[in-house]
Amino acid sequence: MAEVQGSKKKKKKSSKRTRKERRYVGETTYASKVTTGIGMFGAMLLGAGVYSRWVSDHPASYAVYLVAVGAVGLVAALSLGDIGTLPVRVGDLGIAIERGNELDRIGWSDLKRVYVEKGKLMLEARESTSSITLAAHPKAVARLLAEGTQRVPEAMDVKRSAIEDLPTPRDDDGELLTVDGPQVAGRSCRASGKTIAFERDARLCPQCGEVYLKDRVPKKCLTCSAELGERALEA
Ligand SMILES: [Zn+2]
Repeated sequence: MAEVQGSKKKKKKSSKRTRKERRYVGETTYASKVTTGIGMFGAMLLGAGVYSRWVSDHPASYAVYLVAVGAVGLVAALSLGDIGTLPVRVGDLGIAIERGNELDRIGWSDLKRVYVEKGKLMLEARESTSSITLAAHPKAVARLLAEGTQRVPEAMDVKRSAIEDLPTPRDDDGELLTVDGPQVAGRSCRASGKTIAFERDARLCPQCGEVYLKDRVPKKCLTCSAELGERALEA
């Protein structure tokens, strides 16, 4: 495998560095297609029901049902808008899906297999599988695939034909955020299997984020094969 990291331009050589990620909100066109469809239908039923039941001189017996179904449709539209378009982040710490105030993080080193199924990018990790809808997040998915191919090429299992319509990642994509280092205490060293008790004892692979005890850092990362040694980062 070609060593890709040599081409990266790094300004400072400190082993501690700032970590960045890009935040993407879902495409409004996708959200509105789904939501307006259901929402409008709901609003229409609701309106018809209200008219028939309370405004018309001849209230129809089914009017109450129209109101109920319409209201359910509206509520569904509002919540669906959320589901399709949860903000997604891609960057040094891997991938994160924002669920309200919670960040659902998947480290690059945790990814086992990334593939496309039924219009979704499936992220199979060590302990769980998440998905991102392509139509809702074309830019985030494009970025994720580009970074993933550099960081953890073995996990990437996406056919070119499945992602033909995705845009090319650009520097001004998303909202650039600076993030704190990952939580490493409690994770286990990939080389020795020992639990890392203190952050100061941990070293991270700059490419995939795999964690090692500082005395057990291998020459090459055991997860992504990047050269390590001196390049390993402090947490
Ligand atoms: Zn690595």
